Amino acid sequence: MTEKRSTFPLPLSSVTGASTRKPAAPTPVATPQTATQNARTSQAQTRQAPPPSPGPRPAASGAPQPVQPQQTMQRSDLAATEAPRRAMAAHVARQGVKDGQVLAALETMPRHMFIEPALSSQAYADVSLPIGHNQTISQPYIVARMIELLRGSGQPLRRVLEIGTGCGYQAAVLSCVAQEVYSIERIKPLHELAKANLRPLRIANLRLQYGDGMLGLPQVAPFDGIILAAAGLEVPRALLEQLAIGARLVAPVGAQVQHLQRITRTGKSEWTSETLEACHFVPLRPGTV
Ligand code: SAH
Repeated sequence: MTEKRSTFPLPLSSVTGASTRKPAAPTPVATPQTATQNARTSQAQTRQAPPPSPGPRPAASGAPQPVQPQQTMQRSDLAATEAPRRAMAAHVARQGVKDGQVLAALETMPRHMFIEPALSSQAYADVSLPIGHNQTISQPYIVARMIELLRGSGQPLRRVLEIGTGCGYQAAVLSCVAQEVYSIERIKPLHELAKANLRPLRIANLRLQYGDGMLGLPQVAPFDGIILAAAGLEVPRALLEQLAIGARLVAPVGAQVQHLQRITRTGKSEWTSETLEACHFVPLRPGTV
């Protein structure tokens, strides 16, 4: 793999759609604990939740499994969400996710800070939820499962690319298990939303990019892992080319019927593919809006 140095840590305030700079020295992996501490320091944020609502129906399939009392919460209220976060991670573990680091990251990341306050009663239920622009925040189980698949037998991930930032939740979880995370979003208002959601968490090793993720980020490649949060009929060739040798890509593939696919680059012009469980994602679309 070609060694490329990174500019991490990067203040999230520096995260823009501008082209990526060449990095200097990677920071240590941002642990879930770091993220929690960062989040704790951000309690100045005072976005107030509206009065409790009966809660929306989830946007995607799968039975809702509330793991906390139905109540809204302030975005800054980390302590109050500790128990539901733990319960959510335990639920995801019971669904079959075994990777301890991934479960710890899930337990740490305040998911309620990535969804609109009116939906916060569902923040720690294992469901996808609407985030506007016909898109959804992914179900916690699938977020964890994809990252587990990306990590494989648990070797450290250095540079990871996510296609489909949405509200930024999966990128934030990824930042707990990878040294450098890049995430691309094609819908400008969602790119802006993710920036706003992530800013108080001050995740130093995460960089957001506005653009067409189907093209990848050739200026930063190769990647040790690539995750797609939207489903295409096939995985774009450009992304396969941006994998380091030995690296993996995890993506939902299909239209009405979709399956998770894990592709490993085994050589310069060789990839192997595994088709795994069924899933349900929003479509991967070309271009930007
Ligand atoms: N990662 C999110 C999931 C977002 S939903 C989470 O944490 O829950 C999938 C996102 O993929 C949508 O925001 C959609 O706009 C985006 N998307 C679809 N096609 C894309 C493309 N070609 N490039 C970048 N983003 C894309």
